[in-house]
Amino acid sequence: MVGHIQIVEVSPRDGLQADPADLTTDQKVALIERLIAGGHTRIEAASFVSSKAVPKMADGDAIMAGVPRIDGVSYSALAFNRRGVERAIAAEVDEVTGVVVASETFSQRNQNASIAESIERWAAIGDAARAAGKKASVTIAASFGCPFEGRVDPALVVDIARQLAATGPDEIVLADTIGVAVPSRVASLVEGVSQAVDVIPLRGHFHNTRNTALANIVAAIDAGVRIFDSSLGGVGGCPFAPRATGNVATEDVVYLLHEMGFDTGLDLDLLIQSTAWLEYELQHPTPGLVAKAGGFPTP
Ligand code: ZN
Repeated sequence: MVGHIQIVEVSPRDGLQADPADLTTDQKVALIERLIAGGHTRIEAASFVSSKAVPKMADGDAIMAGVPRIDGVSYSALAFNRRGVERAIAAEVDEVTGVVVASETFSQRNQNASIAESIERWAAIGDAARAAGKKASVTIAASFGCPFEGRVDPALVVDIARQLAATGPDEIVLADTIGVAVPSRVASLVEGVSQAVDVIPLRGHFHNTRNTALANIVAAIDAGVRIFDSSLGGVGGCPFAPRATGNVATEDVVYLLHEMGFDTGLDLDLLIQSTAWLEYELQHPTPGLVAKAGGFPTP
């Protein structure tokens, strides 16, 4: 297998938001600088949601003021409403990401809105972002399973994706938010969603909560997905299982992809060094494996 796989690095936002450590803005900016040095060109850098709901992410403006502005490096930020997207635009993000949850109960608890309402909210966010010249992508959270409702019906996800496609997003992200997916389910959902959304690129966001993330990424690649989210060291636990692993580790994904013959534009050795740095800053180990083992041994 050959070709390019694009990695969107989510450690500064999705990762750190779920981590017990509370990094300063300077530490977050230092992380982003290291990610860029390792070759990252797409970084989820900040969140512009209620600082009451997510106090750890209240420094979105300061992060965006501190990050280096480099041609070819794109920063995305999360927004849930018009106020959020306005703040993201003012902070000069390159891409705004919205979220729709594929479960009514989870949607009410997480977004305080029904699925239909959050699709409408997303449409307004996407319109505002594009009007300001920004890219706009939307994540379908809990695409495979929900902590409140259990298994999610793939037909529901396909239906949501079809409605989202009509709003013209740059990408649709299928997120296994609680890490329950397996390759066979990934393959069939990607196939169903691809048919429903036509040419809109799909991105995969797989959590390694049950050790299936890498298998799911390979299944998604076989089904045609070429963009994946991952987090340095696997930072970002699972909010619904406090002792469990969340995001898949970037360096584990990169090792796998490079050995399979794919190009990512990322430097595995630098990523491994950055994981060691991040563990020091967080003052705890991270769950990824390749940072412990190292890359392919050189004799
Ligand atoms: Zn995640």
